[in-house]
Amino acid sequence: MLVVKEQTVKDLVTDEIAFEAVEAVFAAMARGDAYNFPVVREAIGYADALYGFKSGFDRSSLALGLKSGGYWPGNAERGLTNHQSTVVLFDADTGRPKALVGGNYLTAVRTAAASAVSIYHLAREESSVLGMIGAGHQSTFQLRAALKQRKFDRIIGWNIEPERLSVLEEVAAEHGIPFQRAELEILCKQADVIITITSCFSPLVMKNWVLPGTHIACMGTDTKGKQEVEAGLMPQAKLFTDEVAQSISIGECQHAFEAGLINQDDITPVGAVISGSHPGRSAADEITVFDGTGVGLQDLAVASIAVEVAVKNGLAQEIDF
Ligand code: NAD
Repeated sequence: MLVVKEQTVKDLVTDEIAFEAVEAVFAAMARGDAYNFPVVREAIGYADALYGFKSGFDRSSLALGLKSGGYWPGNAERGLTNHQSTVVLFDADTGRPKALVGGNYLTAVRTAAASAVSIYHLAREESSVLGMIGAGHQSTFQLRAALKQRKFDRIIGWNIEPERLSVLEEVAAEHGIPFQRAELEILCKQADVIITITSCFSPLVMKNWVLPGTHIACMGTDTKGKQEVEAGLMPQAKLFTDEVAQSISIGECQHAFEAGLINQDDITPVGAVISGSHPGRSAADEITVFDGTGVGLQDLAVASIAVEVAVKNGLAQEIDF
């Protein structure tokens, strides 16, 4: 069995590698070649931890396995990241364990790759202003990956605790792109592309603020009850997601679906756009929404590539198991 350490993954998996892996697995999901198994997530009644696993199988790449881990709120005091995860890959022919891969950095890049894939396939070509809502751990990953998809010449940011916006300002400065802090309404009215990446439970983006032609990547809502966008916006937009079942149950579309404002059929897997069976955006004045809920297959796809690259670079440790 191979072991690919967290640091090795960090050193080797670039935004570009993650983008390709996530784009390919979204297309495989839309073709019906790859599917996710039901997610398990439990409060374990110890250390205030939330623990669970996400798993699936991609018949086209033969990625089989799971990502296991969760949230340990006391970790920060121990000098560890609160979110902890590890990926285990299995040989699809024999069921033998194939690789153990650090999953913390992978989670961040695969989530950033999902919004980047949505921007690449759905945002207007001439999009020039990027709006960032949220400035937590994920936000800089989302920003870096997004900047590679269009020629953005301005970034606008909002966070409930404005002082945290400095992390985004640093990334903007690295790229030589002006950064402005703004109120939510102004951000929504000026941005061509908006990324939401908060842990919010009530809408931040209101339907009357979003102008025709905007693309919104909703990335923070991955649990029942969370919300970043007013439900009333959804029927006015063309809706895309990673996985429809998750979109209506734990994703941003859950609220519009529960309120009867949209049906399941109104939401298209973005993989259909990638593989060319759905046109995606068909007019410059359409509002497009990508509901990125986060699926186990993304983790397996990126972990598989991490193993491949680590082996090529002689950085995968082989253990007798
Ligand atoms: P984090 O804890 O580092 O940051 C949370 C962010 O949400 C911060 O910007 C914080 O200021 C903001 N926030 C918290 N409460 C808020 C409120 N009431 N109103 C407005 N903003 C609020 O978390 P993170 O790692 O950056 O993740 C952000 C979100 O993305 C989380 O909800 C997480 O579960 C989700 N996430 C989704 C995926 C996916 O695949 N879709 C993957 C990873 C994380």
